[in-house]
Amino acid sequence: MKKISILGATGSIGLQTLDVIRNHPDKFELVAFSAGFSNEIEQVIEIINEFKPAMFSMINQSDCLKVLAETNCKYSYGSEGLIEVALSECDTLVNAVVGSVGLIPTCEAIKNGTDIALANKETLVTAGDIVMNLVKEHNVKLLPVDSEHSAIFQCLQGEDLKSVSKLLITASGGSFRDLTREELKGVTKAQALAHPNWSMGAKITIDSASMMNKGLEVIEAHHLFGIDYDDIEVLLHRQSVVHSMVEFNDLSIIAHLGSADMRIPIQYALSYDKRLPFNSKRLNLKEVKSITFEELSLERYPCLAYAIEAGKTGHTMPTVLNASNEAAVSLFLNDKIEFLDIENIVREQMDNHHLIKNPTLAQITKLDQEIKEIVIRRYS
Ligand code: NAD
Ligand code: MG
Repeated sequence: MKKISILGATGSIGLQTLDVIRNHPDKFELVAFSAGFSNEIEQVIEIINEFKPAMFSMINQSDCLKVLAETNCKYSYGSEGLIEVALSECDTLVNAVVGSVGLIPTCEAIKNGTDIALANKETLVTAGDIVMNLVKEHNVKLLPVDSEHSAIFQCLQGEDLKSVSKLLITASGGSFRDLTREELKGVTKAQALAHPNWSMGAKITIDSASMMNKGLEVIEAHHLFGIDYDDIEVLLHRQSVVHSMVEFNDLSIIAHLGSADMRIPIQYALSYDKRLPFNSKRLNLKEVKSITFEELSLERYPCLAYAIEAGKTGHTMPTVLNASNEAAVSLFLNDKIEFLDIENIVREQMDNHHLIKNPTLAQITKLDQEIKEIVIRRYS
């Protein structure tokens, strides 16, 4: 029986993680979880009643108290609450919150010797060097949940990382993949939120439309697998059937295929290094008919170019990229800015930044807050 705790159990990845636990009650047990604001109270009560965890946490204490009126469960709240969930008696912490709020609890869990199943890519983008050093120091597993990284991780099983010549990360192209730059002017929030292949949380769906998501994933892959940025290639792959590939020094390419169902990589991260059965619709390659790969233009998708630039620059630049993007996406989702303002805000913050070399965790979290405040204040 593996004990699982989840940061962000009420989100898209969180709920799918609960489904994996539900499908394997003899293998996994929910120990603790966190959720967000008052609109999630009903969901929180349902999760407690179904999975009977030892504790839960929400952002505000008043919401926890409303949950307690209906259930009996230990609670915590705020940023301390996230840390308590991270430090709960679990074997694996699934980090499924959105944004850099996942960073500190992840570091605390690693220091406590807990394996991490990581969906929250912003954690690795904003502080990849620090997180990877902690992973090595405390000898824990950092298991990717992001479908591309799970694919690469699976392609690498039994392989020597030294024989890898290239990572090939696939991108569906997001909701605006067939629009020109000119046509992107004036696109709406509803259009941006209509992803062609995946149903996901709002922030990552906007990031997919801007291609920032793929940029964040390139940085994530660099840290997870220790591969140079010049050896990571992004391919437009409209069908989302090949989730990513690895090219080796003998020029063999190994690919991972499957249906576009996040429960597959989530379950793999939870059951690693075993596979468990999964009852769902299997991928029918005869229905897929053809799979295609195209070059992704950095001119068409400047956010991808900015992310690669930030990753190569290193130090605090990825923190600035991530924080300015998080703030800009929330402004866009609140109808304060246009879609194309997102990339301009990120560019502006990167241009204004004075790099801090080898930042500490405290410097990163301070900078993350500062950049978000500057951006939100300027455009609200
Ligand atoms: P989501 O918006 O659906 O869920 C986010 C979760 O985090 C919710 O439980 C919410 O309550 C919680 N949360 C949000 N802000 C919080 C805060 N300030 N403090 C505490 N909790 C907070 O997001 P998602 O789509 O599930 O994505 C989660 C992470 O997984 C993201 O980093 C995303 O990039 C990554 N990811 C998601 C998918 C997907 O299919 N959804 C795929 C790959 C990677
Ligand atoms: Mg992904």
